[in-house]
Amino acid sequence: MHPMLKPALRRAWRGRNTVQFGVTPAHAVTLGPMDIATGSFLELLDGTRGLPLLREEARALDLSDRHVDILVSRLTEAGLLDDPSAGGVEADALRRRAETLERQRPDAASLSVVHPAPGGALRTLAARGAVRVQVRGAGRVGATIAAVLSASGVGRVDVLDGGRTEPWDVAPGGLPAASVGERRDTAARQLVRRSAIGGAPGTDRSGSATKGGEPPLSLIVVAPRDGLAVHAPDPGVAAPWLASGTPHLYAGVVEATGVVGPLVLPGGTGCAGCLALHRAELDPQWPRMLAQWQSGRRTAVQACDLGLATAVAGLAAGHALSFIDGDLPGSTGTRWETAMPLLDWRSEPLVPHLDCACGAAGHTEGELTSANAATQDTMAG
Ligand SMILES: [Zn+2]
Repeated sequence: MHPMLKPALRRAWRGRNTVQFGVTPAHAVTLGPMDIATGSFLELLDGTRGLPLLREEARALDLSDRHVDILVSRLTEAGLLDDPSAGGVEADALRRRAETLERQRPDAASLSVVHPAPGGALRTLAARGAVRVQVRGAGRVGATIAAVLSASGVGRVDVLDGGRTEPWDVAPGGLPAASVGERRDTAARQLVRRSAIGGAPGTDRSGSATKGGEPPLSLIVVAPRDGLAVHAPDPGVAAPWLASGTPHLYAGVVEATGVVGPLVLPGGTGCAGCLALHRAELDPQWPRMLAQWQSGRRTAVQACDLGLATAVAGLAAGHALSFIDGDLPGSTGTRWETAMPLLDWRSEPLVPHLDCACGAAGHTEGELTSANAATQDTMAG
């Protein structure tokens, strides 16, 4: 082990004998009591020295071997130590690809704060290479999400959309001006490939072709060009994803409002069907209005502020990555919304609906049966 204090966290003395690692409340840790000699010793924890050498240099500071061992174990327990050689085989493979890792250093530093075990950051980053995500929609929001996921090391990003790129689809980070007139799916595929670091889509992080066809789909990001389909997601469209148990995350812009979420974990959190049922209960006119919005004559170009679209894409990509990395981000079963011009984000939990077939409300067998019976009565009547 070559202990290294995580470079991502700034250090400051809090008073005379306590050290605070990190600036922000989300990840800052304080450690004390700590004397000046120990404080100086911390400078040696830069990943270049193994424990024997550290103990030797500590003796010059009048610190005992035992003191060093206890300090190292306390720092490790507090999630403050990384090890430049930890993380397993995949992390080692990533380390050997210096150019790729150089570009991902800020991402690795960020992950080192979130995944506290030594080597946790590189292990997490490397694991993204085996993940497949589908992005549905290649407009300003969808294409940017796909590019960010690809650039963040997600091994395979498939983008689905129809038609040809229009001038108003172009966005920095999304489809380029040169793709206007090209098929959207082709343009998006090129964007994903250009954004990828270290290996084209369809290859794993070691650069070899993925064995045995496609890796399973970890996540669908629903980012249609028509933002109404995110504001009021269609339960019918989501039915196959619920049936296959595929997690899906909604993101889009409708009029001058941005929406991120919910991230639906089928059978676990509220889904499009739950949302539709709640809305119809709250507002009896909702289904009638929605039908008009969906069928009404649509203007050729939908409202979509570029700053808002970029913020939505960035937040959605961040939530997707957090989920891919093994956490449950704040959009899990929750919708985040922001409206111009104030653009403050607000969240609203999407409570699973008892009558929804997704089962997230925790149906027991008996409840299901009575719900089915009620449906049959209605049909018979
Ligand atoms: Zn549901």
